[in-house]
Amino acid sequence: MKSTDRAKRFSENFKQRITRQQALALAACAHCGICADSCHYYKVTGDPKMTPAYKADRIRRVFKRQFDWTGRFIPWWVGAEAVSEDEQLEELKEIFFGCCTGCRRCTINCPFGVDMAGLVSLTRSLLIDENMGPTGLIKVMRDQWTTGNQMAISDQDYLETLRWLQEEVREELDDPGVTIPVDKKGADFLYIVNPREIKYAPMSLMAATKIFHSAGLNWTMGSKGWDNTNYGLFSGKADLGRHMCNLAFTQAKILGVKQLVVSECGHGFRSMKWEAPIWGVKVETPIQVVSVLQLLAELISRGIIALDPRRNPLPVTYHDPCSLSRSSGLTEEPRYCLRRACLDFREMTPNRINSYCCTGGGGALSMTEYTPLRLRVTRIKASQIAATGAVSVVTSCHNCADGLADVIKANKLTAEVEPGVHRPVTVRTVCDCVANALILDSVSKQPLEPSKKL
Ligand code: SF4
Ligand code: SF4
Repeated sequence: MKSTDRAKRFSENFKQRITRQQALALAACAHCGICADSCHYYKVTGDPKMTPAYKADRIRRVFKRQFDWTGRFIPWWVGAEAVSEDEQLEELKEIFFGCCTGCRRCTINCPFGVDMAGLVSLTRSLLIDENMGPTGLIKVMRDQWTTGNQMAISDQDYLETLRWLQEEVREELDDPGVTIPVDKKGADFLYIVNPREIKYAPMSLMAATKIFHSAGLNWTMGSKGWDNTNYGLFSGKADLGRHMCNLAFTQAKILGVKQLVVSECGHGFRSMKWEAPIWGVKVETPIQVVSVLQLLAELISRGIIALDPRRNPLPVTYHDPCSLSRSSGLTEEPRYCLRRACLDFREMTPNRINSYCCTGGGGALSMTEYTPLRLRVTRIKASQIAATGAVSVVTSCHNCADGLADVIKANKLTAEVEPGVHRPVTVRTVCDCVANALILDSVSKQPLEPSKKL
């Protein structure tokens, strides 16, 4: 059969770009099926085509045809298949963009550690190069390339929002000394945020400002390189990943800060901390990448800030963002903070590295064509939250916050706020809970040196 040009290019690029780790993930699968129950898509639908092994097999057949001698000589025997038609690429698009959030829950449950996220990255990047990426995802990528942030917020709007938030916090704390510094040279750390905090959820940045101010920290935000999100991770495009990391690291270098503190964003932290070196980001001066969760835990444990948990009396539970827990190991810091900031903290089951995806990971929120299936598979997360009886689900990721809001809405999740009174479950962030519990007048003003332990 004659291949289409697209299919030919896809196959050629596949051969050239596959990495050793991705090849290993494709070669190692023993088809044992253990991973099936890990996946929220399969758990909810019961459709065998939603199992991680089936999804991975759709790209594995291409690998076998090109790299495995059995696939070259007896393809029908080993299920190897060349990509020759655009319909095959369409099928890969449906699977790798529409039915997998790259959450890596299957990976940690696979006895061979087959890394699904690596296969998602590879396949997505190859499809995007053939103009087959979902429109919403492509738009966000373009915005990051052209404006430096995923919501195309102008410099003027960004700076005005910071000024307005500064005024709000001054008023709330009745303290004219509150500042949100911008481009402050010699600050200890540069705080980089998710653009959702500028456009839709300013309370989050206000909460962080209150905490940093109360702790007497020497911090700053940047006029450039302030977006911690990274669609290079969601698209598999290393060049965009590198670009976004470079914007932040360059600003950190210009300002001479010691640390880059990443606000509550799972994939943002993962990109800056773990993916940047893989993407070839070169940081000339050593700059520590720290999650705001680590900073908060340190401020509390060293007595730099004091909290009164009675200010958050209603039951809360915590959703572990996949990129922070499974992919970055940050499971205890948020719990440490929440146990001290809230009166009634309840664990969701399963939790930590076994937590289920919020369903909005991997850029899924930007790919509206797959929303119906995404909302359908929210059921599993909804029942996890409901079982805790918590009034709020707290998370440490703005992407998860949106995913969880959809989980709550799609499943009409409510909780009892007082006897006989039910209200929709709310979504909160760790910063919000900590800021709400702050005891402002008993706060230590001793300066905090960046800890070597972070
Ligand atoms: S658990 Fe691992 S080896 Fe078994 S089918 Fe799933 S990916 Fe393959
Ligand atoms: S990475 Fe997550 S969404 Fe994708 S197949 Fe594995 S468990 Fe399912």
